Amino acid sequence: MTQSELLISLEDKYGAHNYHPLPVVLEKGEGVYVWDVEGKKYFDFLSAYSAVNQGHSHPRILKALQTQAQKLTLSSRAFYNSELGKYEKFMTELFGFDKLLPMNTGAEAVETALKVCRKWAYAKKGLAENEAVILFATGNFHGRTLSIISGSTDDSSRKGFGPYMPNFEVIEYNNFEALEKALENKNVAGFLVEPIQGEAGILIPQDGYLKKCADLCKSKQVLFIADEVQTGIARTGKMLACDHENVHPDILILGKAVSGGVYPVSCIMASDEIMLCIKPGEHGSTYGGNPLACAVATEAMQVVLDEKLAENAEKMGAIFRKGLVDMNAPIINVVRGKGLLNAIEINDTPDSETAWNICLEFAKNGLLAKPTHGNIIRLAPPLVINEAQIQESLQIIKKSLENF
Ligand SMILES: *Cc1c(COP(=O)(O)O)cnc(C)c1O
Repeated sequence: MTQSELLISLEDKYGAHNYHPLPVVLEKGEGVYVWDVEGKKYFDFLSAYSAVNQGHSHPRILKALQTQAQKLTLSSRAFYNSELGKYEKFMTELFGFDKLLPMNTGAEAVETALKVCRKWAYAKKGLAENEAVILFATGNFHGRTLSIISGSTDDSSRKGFGPYMPNFEVIEYNNFEALEKALENKNVAGFLVEPIQGEAGILIPQDGYLKKCADLCKSKQVLFIADEVQTGIARTGKMLACDHENVHPDILILGKAVSGGVYPVSCIMASDEIMLCIKPGEHGSTYGGNPLACAVATEAMQVVLDEKLAENAEKMGAIFRKGLVDMNAPIINVVRGKGLLNAIEINDTPDSETAWNICLEFAKNGLLAKPTHGNIIRLAPPLVINEAQIQESLQIIKKSLENF
């Protein structure tokens, strides 16, 4: 038995079977590369679902982690801590909001946004108690909690977990008229949407969709809630995917790359009018806003700015997509993406094994990626990737596809 086989068998025997990983066991990462336990080196083209935008083991982020870990890791919010206020000032100024509410995982931040939206609907919009409706979009992915999956249209996320949260309604993604129609209901309090749907297979809405939706929400006193957990932090070539259409959401949800993949850090940001609807004792998290998280996230965000990762994502993304198109591989149906959030759609049925087998071939040739929704392969390397590395990755992809 190889070391990898042994470690896989341990997970298989002692871990819940709630994931289906590729048979690669990683133990080290640096920049755009990861290594498995046998010492084989790979390009990381998943970046932990865009959590590792700054690259693996970024020395500045690790230093911030170590320095803060030696001082204070957790105070709880029963007391103030030396890092939280500075972090909140930095983030709200950077993104143009009044206030930030810190959580840990993406799902928790989405939950927080839903709760804040309901509170605001009763306190400010004047809806009758228990009447508030929140809109979701078809094909969404916002996390795994019971309330979030209540708004999902994906059977594998939803089925067998009922009963579901009432007053969540689903409208078609990338369909402005569907939103117009849904907003005829005066009880709608908010519209939760991903500017680009990541898990659904990098689905990019028509130009102008986000702006029109945000404007309509504003005119109807409905909160436009952007889930940028995957699309945010420079991934699509701008700091936020909403920036491509100059949309300023009422509630912004961030997670994943806020900490560069070093520590679970998420948050929502909003105006005073919205955020101050939550009073002391009404919401919280023991680890949310802990000093270690704040120090790590501040440094991780500063790295994104200092290394101009948004600009690099835009530039490298364009070169990468052109390289994919120029391959003219018959097995690729479509190449799509923005910045370094890209996907290839495989010319086979969604229930075929082809995309999975291609990813196994990628791995054999030194590149890690994973299918999403059957026949779509997401290709999203850390944003620190340079042009030579893009070209080398394209060679691996080309060579791997020749067998299909
Ligand atoms: C990953 C993701 C989440 C959930 O984040 P977790 O940290 O896994 O809870 C929510 N929304 C989007 C768009 C995501 O990609």
